[in-house]
Amino acid sequence: MTLPLRDELKGLKPYGAPQLDVPIKLNTNENPFSPPADLISAIAADISQIAGELNRYPDRDAIELRTQLAQYLNEESQVSLDANQVWAANGSNEIMLQLLQAYGGPNRKALTFTPTYSMYEEYARDTNTEFIAIDRLKDFSVNEDLVTTSLKEHSPSVVFFASPNNPTGTAMDLSIIQNVAPNFPSTIFVVDEAYAEFRRPGVASALTLLPALPNLVVTRTMSKAFAFAGVRLGYLAASEALINDLMLVRLPYHLSSVTQSVAKTALRFAAELQADLDVIRRERDDLLVWLGENGFTAAESDANFVLFGTFTDRHAAWQALVDHGILIREVGPTGWLRVTIGTPTEMQSFKTALLRVKAEMS
Ligand code: PMP
Repeated sequence: MTLPLRDELKGLKPYGAPQLDVPIKLNTNENPFSPPADLISAIAADISQIAGELNRYPDRDAIELRTQLAQYLNEESQVSLDANQVWAANGSNEIMLQLLQAYGGPNRKALTFTPTYSMYEEYARDTNTEFIAIDRLKDFSVNEDLVTTSLKEHSPSVVFFASPNNPTGTAMDLSIIQNVAPNFPSTIFVVDEAYAEFRRPGVASALTLLPALPNLVVTRTMSKAFAFAGVRLGYLAASEALINDLMLVRLPYHLSSVTQSVAKTALRFAAELQADLDVIRRERDDLLVWLGENGFTAAESDANFVLFGTFTDRHAAWQALVDHGILIREVGPTGWLRVTIGTPTEMQSFKTALLRVKAEMS
């Protein structure tokens, strides 16, 4: 018997990094700090309170949560959004899939600049949208000329920019969006800011451009900065009109009562979680210096990970680190590896192991 799988899915493997059982996991850009004890207690109280109402469907439009997400963004990026300009779903993965369900589809294109987050291609495939990948410049950035030329040539209905970009860590020069987006009013510009909270001081968020650009969407997630990857809460900020379009494609009651409730609780702890972000940023900046001092090349990073190299045989280097109990990610351009910033102790172990691996391989 042959199951009638779509032709374009035949022979493919499901997305995912290897989940190996090693002591130090620095491979999926998670926050290494578990939620603080007072947040854990607040979540437990929340869940016991809503448990008695789980026979009912959740608030379909998640109004309270969206109001609180807007307040968080307003403080975090000095903007002034309200609930109608924010939309939430199960991870920013679902947010971006919804964007292509609404704006992609047959005879339409989604475009991005690679190397970048590999899921963009999957959202396109799953929505029957043609996917166009354009190479980034040598330093992993894009410029106005490259973006304009690519959009003129391909006329995509959606363009994805990850900023900071995964796996390179590169933040985007926002003047590109500011100058180019008005020239392509029928293209949705998505700036995926999954890692925005890790950006260096002085690096602005694309949220600041929203008032001037009706075709701009900025996506965020609680998976990274909020140490909440297990909850699956992603969100976006955009015009109210765009959010009304997304409501056409969202599944009814897509965001569970449990998710909505614990996300609201975690938002109350934003200031407390900030201290952990400071530690991660400091470790990242230290690692960049350390890599340079020890003969490695590393890409500048505004995220909670660093792309470094270069290795003649990166797979051998990756495997040797696994043998030393450290799992990082074999991703990005040939010869490079990506390491997620862990706790200070984990980073010390990583550095020690990397020097050993370097000596073993030379
Ligand atoms: N965007 C980028 C650039 C990412 O790296 C990731 C996760 N690794 C996501 C979006 C998705 O995050 P989530 O679905 O957990 O919000």
